[in-house]
Amino acid sequence: MENKKELRNWLDAFGLDHPLVIAGPCSAETEAQVLKVAHQLKDTDATVLRAGIWKPRTRPGNFEGVGALGLKWLQKAKEETGMLTTTEVANPHHVEHALKHDIDILWIGARTTVSPFMIQEIADALQGTDKTVLIKNPVNPDLALWLGAVERMYTADIKNLGVIHRGFSSYEKTKYRNNPEWQIAIELQNKFPDLPLILDPSHIAGRRDIIFDLCQTALDLNFDGLMVETHYDPDNAWSDAKQQITPATLVQIMKDLKIRKEVSESEDYQNKLQNLRAKIDIADNQLIELLAKRMKVSEEIGHVKKSQNVAILQTKRWNEILGKMVLEGNQHGLSEEFVLKLFKAVHQESINHQQSILDS
Ligand code: PEP
Ligand code: MN
Repeated sequence: MENKKELRNWLDAFGLDHPLVIAGPCSAETEAQVLKVAHQLKDTDATVLRAGIWKPRTRPGNFEGVGALGLKWLQKAKEETGMLTTTEVANPHHVEHALKHDIDILWIGARTTVSPFMIQEIADALQGTDKTVLIKNPVNPDLALWLGAVERMYTADIKNLGVIHRGFSSYEKTKYRNNPEWQIAIELQNKFPDLPLILDPSHIAGRRDIIFDLCQTALDLNFDGLMVETHYDPDNAWSDAKQQITPATLVQIMKDLKIRKEVSESEDYQNKLQNLRAKIDIADNQLIELLAKRMKVSEEIGHVKKSQNVAILQTKRWNEILGKMVLEGNQHGLSEEFVLKLFKAVHQESINHQQSILDS
């Protein structure tokens, strides 16, 4: 599949002057809940109402969705508000129900994208559909798996496609529920610049307070849209309560976001600059996180040295590291002078950390 402009026809057809907004609760809970959220979203930037009907939970015992019954509630919400609707499908049986209830956009969840078998079954069930299909990234940070799912849909003659970036799980606990790993989305965007790219800040964040920043980063990186979990009473939501926001908060976020449209030449320049700066910010954050991680290991070495009464400075080992890094840097176009300066600073910080362990 080469880059195809036609992939974004469905999005361009909306003629929006702001990013596409998909909003609505994590799960459809009751008919009244779906209708209430839909009416609160009706006159906002949200074009599409989302609600999970079949909920894939990592562990059993949590709310697993209301099932096909909820599709009727989405239909009713559409009739009453004119919003388009979307829900998650994870197998051909879901697809059949969703199509029967005229759901406009189907999304494929992160736990489904990991399995080419399941993706192929869904692609076969959707063969030739003119519905829009949005594919979330797989749970694990694997671009090929994500692209593979897009290709399977495309090969099944599904031409209205898009992808949703919802972050990647990692064993280490971070401030995110799912690490953004922006570089993966950027790589995908480089390969398929016309494939609509939508951010799901809710599942990346797992909490409310960083949703705005995630949305701004995505817009700076030229994402095409946002899918935000929205509930009139987030604290009492039946699933993902911590990360849902109210429709009013969503309206405020949309007001506060800096949205750059490509219009004049000077604005185009601003866009490019902002886009590149967003990439630099992401790389800088990764640098800091990596340096902190390195320092933690170095501290562990400090504890080992302390227990054995060994001197901090191991000159032979240090010279080996420096030599290796100068060569490595050289291969990546970094000057020897720079690599030496950088690693001397890193080494000094390491020594300081180890020293404070030995002194404690
Ligand atoms: C969801 O959107 O509610 C959902 C279950 O998402 P994900 O597949 O990204 O976990
Ligand atoms: Mn959710």
